[in-house]
Amino acid sequence: VIITGLVTKIESINYYVKCEDKIYHCFLKGNFKKKFEYKKNKLITTDIVVVGDYVDFELNKEGFGLIHKIHKRKNYLSRKAPRIKGATIKGSRLEQVLAANIDNAIIVMSPKTPQFNNRTLDRYIVTAKACNIPETIVINKIDLADEDFKYWINLYQKTGHNIITVSATENINIDKLKSLIDKKVSVFWGPSGVGKSSLINTIYPQANLRVGDISDYTTKGRHTTVTAQLIEIEKDTYLIDTPGIREIEPFGVSQLDLGHYFNDIAKYIPDCKFNTCTHEHEPDCAVREAFYKGKISEERYLSYLNMLDSIEEDINYL
Ligand code: GDP
Ligand code: ZN
Repeated sequence: VIITGLVTKIESINYYVKCEDKIYHCFLKGNFKKKFEYKKNKLITTDIVVVGDYVDFELNKEGFGLIHKIHKRKNYLSRKAPRIKGATIKGSRLEQVLAANIDNAIIVMSPKTPQFNNRTLDRYIVTAKACNIPETIVINKIDLADEDFKYWINLYQKTGHNIITVSATENINIDKLKSLIDKKVSVFWGPSGVGKSSLINTIYPQANLRVGDISDYTTKGRHTTVTAQLIEIEKDTYLIDTPGIREIEPFGVSQLDLGHYFNDIAKYIPDCKFNTCTHEHEPDCAVREAFYKGKISEERYLSYLNMLDSIEEDINYL
């Protein structure tokens, strides 16, 4: 019999696959090996099976599952892998898939402690969009916000983002956030100290996560392994933990792609004269024109330019 299940944890060659409240200890079938392939002129390593994947397996005589098939992914979180000697050609970098089939990217920011940083927020948004993961902006510590902070809420609402304001300690709008992640697979992102663990503990008091269990981008060297895990925080509700991942540099976002991940910029791109326009200096750029007319806010345009600047253009070798 073939069983279909959800991969919740991987430890070296051991795969833990959940099907109807049962966890099966599985291995990959022999012909399933890590492979390298080219995608969009880039060398990628499909880490074959990652957490969040739905897989088919059959039990062997010893009661272990042998995985022989991965179901098609609706999306996946990936990053540029660290440079590995021998695996790269002329400085190009591999794509490392961390987790698949993610329903929500919950991007948590705070108005204060730490101070709100719109460029950091925009980076998380771009990562979510580049991975095709629906994102929601969660402003925690709304109890600390002053009047001026409304500016940012309005700005992101205007640009078509889903944004909710909450407080973990004052219990504001916690039910709203809960309804978003109930029975879904979500990943929490945000700078250290914005209250990710506090939020999770407030929503799921029985989970009793230690502060810091849900890793963030900025924490250095706390964990040693780099295997993501699905934590079942409540029946059929999963959080993705990506220990040791300091920073997710979105994979495959080229300078030409970037504008498409900024809602307010994207809509003007079709009107640029050149289809190679990066909206920085090119003539007849509809984006810059929109900016000069005040249709794109200065903060967003500068954030875009800043990110554009930081994208390393991989050498094309094909
Ligand atoms: P993480 O690093 O993102 O997981 O953040 P933590 O959950 O560890 O929270 C960092 C600090 O912010 C802790 O001292 C929390 O008590 C505090 N905190 C969390 N949520 C709120 C909130 O809604 N309002 C206020 N005022 N403080 C909060
Ligand atoms: Zn342009």
